[in-house]
Amino acid sequence: MTDTPKYGFDTLQIHAGARPDPATGARQTPIYQTTAYVFRDADHAAALFNLQEVGYIYSRLTNPTVAVLQERIATLEGGAGAVCCSSGHAAQIMALFPLMGPGLNVVASTRAYGGTITQFSQTIKRFGWSAKFVDFDDESAVAAAIDENTRAIFCESIANPGGYVTDLDAIAKIADAAQLPLIVDNTAATPYLCQPFQHGAALVVHSTTKYLTGNGTVTGGAVVDSGTFDWSATDKFPSLSKPEPAYHGLKFHETFGPLAYTFHGIAIGLRDLGMTMNPQAAHYTLMGIETLSLRMERHVANAKKIASWLETDPRIEKVTYAGLPSSPYAKRAMRICPKGAGALFTVAVKGGYDACVKLVENLNIFSHVANLGDARSLILHPASTTHRQLTEEQQEAAGAGPSVVRISIGIEDADDLIADLDQALTAATA
Ligand SMILES: *Cc1c(COP(=O)(O)O)cnc(C)c1O
Repeated sequence: MTDTPKYGFDTLQIHAGARPDPATGARQTPIYQTTAYVFRDADHAAALFNLQEVGYIYSRLTNPTVAVLQERIATLEGGAGAVCCSSGHAAQIMALFPLMGPGLNVVASTRAYGGTITQFSQTIKRFGWSAKFVDFDDESAVAAAIDENTRAIFCESIANPGGYVTDLDAIAKIADAAQLPLIVDNTAATPYLCQPFQHGAALVVHSTTKYLTGNGTVTGGAVVDSGTFDWSATDKFPSLSKPEPAYHGLKFHETFGPLAYTFHGIAIGLRDLGMTMNPQAAHYTLMGIETLSLRMERHVANAKKIASWLETDPRIEKVTYAGLPSSPYAKRAMRICPKGAGALFTVAVKGGYDACVKLVENLNIFSHVANLGDARSLILHPASTTHRQLTEEQQEAAGAGPSVVRISIGIEDADDLIADLDQALTAATA
């Protein structure tokens, strides 16, 4: 997109990365359902394998349908490049992989998605990596947690399960001072509501499973690189700055400049970890992403209306939505995500565990599922599902106490959603 005019978000979400198919003129991006690509000749094959020429070899590494989605997401985030992966969790491993190694750590926010807390506190230990969890509202604690073995800082823009917005500018300043990349999970905000690179992030990760696809059809993830982090400024990132033995001593940063991290993600990450997005998944996400801004506007308008209604309802104890003027994060939300604080929040219901179980069982439009960011409205009672293995104290600490439900507001008629919540709350608190 280097020589194209500066188009607006609504134009880019439809056109970035795509062009009519050169072979057939097909206007929509075809699903290139192929594993391999014919080499022109032996020299062409050698150049591709040496990373001297960019092209298609094998779909574990690159695929034309996935490539369109990669360029689309990178453009919407204002980044230099992106690598798509098989899920959001795969994207998180792929994001850390070039930076980490045995004995090294990532400093991460305590207010991360529950699945991320598990991945970072348990699973990454098998690679010899570790995470230090800190309250990201306590800036001196974040700075103090960084040690000589830290290689990244990780947080969410709008945190799942909602109601919390990270002060990305403040955290980026700390990361900069320590010459470390800030990685922001922008899943719950999307690039329409929040642009982490404008607030100092070096890398962005996504679960494309959620709003970017927007229809609950496929899992996927993406790692986006701003292209601005200097991997050679210190000797902390040898995978990017030092000779790579698997490519005859090639130095990624020296050779590929702002695309070093993206090329490493494909040539080493996808090649050896194999967490590849398939072309069908990329197709569904491309279909969804075309309407991202329209959906997010409606998601936010509905969430504001419904959260405001819930907040004044006598059957409700508390609503945590950063889009409500009463939220302690309302002012910060206007700076970090000026177009709205998303559509994900938690609600504490009077009547505790039993009332929550009855509420989810009596709803007609809302579905009780472990997902978010769908066009349809979703609800989850963490204490009886995703968080049922935890003690009550652990549930409270995670913002998922027995009386709390997490709501992902869809793009249906807001009045229908309010009526549905109203009748189910009556049944739940009778
Ligand atoms: C769902 C989610 C993930 C994990 O994504 P998957 O596609 O389910 O692997 C990571 N971060 C956040 C904020 C999420 O909501």
